[in-house]
Amino acid sequence: MPFVVMITGIPGVGKSTITRMALRKTNVKFRLVNFGDLMFEEAVKAGLVEHRDEMRKLNPNVQKNLQMKAARRVVEMAQTEPILLDTHATIRTPVGYLLGFPREVIEVINPNFIVIIEATPSEILGRRLRDLKRDRDVETEEQIQRHQDLNRAAAISYAMHSNALIKIIENHEDKGLEEAVHELVEVLNLAVGEYD
Ligand code: AMP
Repeated sequence: MPFVVMITGIPGVGKSTITRMALRKTNVKFRLVNFGDLMFEEAVKAGLVEHRDEMRKLNPNVQKNLQMKAARRVVEMAQTEPILLDTHATIRTPVGYLLGFPREVIEVINPNFIVIIEATPSEILGRRLRDLKRDRDVETEEQIQRHQDLNRAAAISYAMHSNALIKIIENHEDKGLEEAVHELVEVLNLAVGEYD
């Protein structure tokens, strides 16, 4: 049976770090797939963008089309190996929040888990200020809070249209990264035996 874990979390929450560390500790070998990479490949092929941070500014219908193309590729990969899909529950676009997985798209992927990595708005803001590599929008703590609230709501709607369970993992400065990594490893290890 295909096994797909979606990992989400707003920029600056520490998602990539936790993911990288968890993948070294699992009992099953996961293929790490970045949904934005797949969308970006499709967008470049279609001559729509040159940089990945331009994608969220495209017409929402165009983005939906890219999501569907990327989703079909994920399903294909999931036939042979468990997939950890690095993505976003919602995307903040210039005209409003875009659902990362509209109904038709989540139905195609049908993930086993939707993991949400969370931290406090002040922790997220601090991490964003230390990482100036990306072309990220400047947000207040209130906007960060609202975005995280919306992501939980979006996850519920994804669970309604798939068989996914929702797992919230907190990544706080004082709690330590190790615990967050351990929680993710536990979810990933549930894939043991699925491809035998
Ligand atoms: P990332 O590197 O994960 O921050 O993703 C880069 C870009 O990919 C995001 O800013 C979005 O434009 C796009 N992206 C990633 N996941 C999704 C998704 N589920 N739906 C729409 N766009 C996405």
